[in-house]
Amino acid sequence: MKQKKLLYAGKAKSVYHTDVEGKLIVEFRDDITAFDGGKKDVLKNKGSYNAEVSAFFFDYLEKNGVKTHFISMMDPRHVVVRELGMIPLEVIVRNIAAGSIVRNYPFKEGTKLSPPVIVIDFKDDTRHDPMLNDDLIIALKLATPAELRAIRKSALEINRLLYTLLAKQGILLVDFKIEFGRQGKTIRLGDEISMDSMRLWDKVTRESLDKDVYRFNKGDVMATYNRVARRITTRTARPAAMKKKPVAAQKIRYESSGRAAKPKAKKR
Ligand code: 5GP
Repeated sequence: MKQKKLLYAGKAKSVYHTDVEGKLIVEFRDDITAFDGGKKDVLKNKGSYNAEVSAFFFDYLEKNGVKTHFISMMDPRHVVVRELGMIPLEVIVRNIAAGSIVRNYPFKEGTKLSPPVIVIDFKDDTRHDPMLNDDLIIALKLATPAELRAIRKSALEINRLLYTLLAKQGILLVDFKIEFGRQGKTIRLGDEISMDSMRLWDKVTRESLDKDVYRFNKGDVMATYNRVARRITTRTARPAAMKKKPVAAQKIRYESSGRAAKPKAKKR
């Protein structure tokens, strides 16, 4: 498959057309930003850590019945995906109170949210991603009521699968942001799930293992991303604790060579 012209460049990813109808290539760049782009840096190899973790999660979710855009990993920072019509919603699932929910509401950081709280923001940088409610989503024609129901159901299922998978690695899934798109009438999970879009805490020490390390200068960002990527992708999940048995997480494979997806350590 050949990479063709640029379709879209976001803050940390670029999306390219390909010579195959309906397929795109996503490039995970080394750019990292926070606070609406107010803080930015380029951190060598960040893109490959996020690509690896995101591809691992998408592959795992697909194998457990979640419809996603993921097709295969091309190389350590490029992923082949199905082309979707992206819906400009940022769906945030929260299991533990942290971040903006603590700043904006009377929650104490670390409080368990059971059932999980779903918050949906309007993906619009010029308006600073304001929070939406169902009526606004329908009135703005961003999604139909049926699509919104499908998005919520899928978000909760993704949360259940990832929370359980990460718990087995001693990691608490505090919260995460996901985005969906349409392929015909089918709603699929798009974008990425990585250290840039999740809040992860070590179960024992409660140490941050995600972009909060960058946002709040908590330590060496790349050492953390490397460590957490190894922790997430190198052990196999055991399905015993799950109600609906998930397919065990396996190594994803490169499309071209069939080698395991783990990038070579020396390239980092
Ligand atoms: P908060 O609302 O607390 O800032 O973010 C909640 C969760 O969603 C965090 O895991 C955060 O990383 C993620 N998140 C929120 N907005 C964005 C965004 O615009 N881009 C990315 N990549 N993640 C986001």
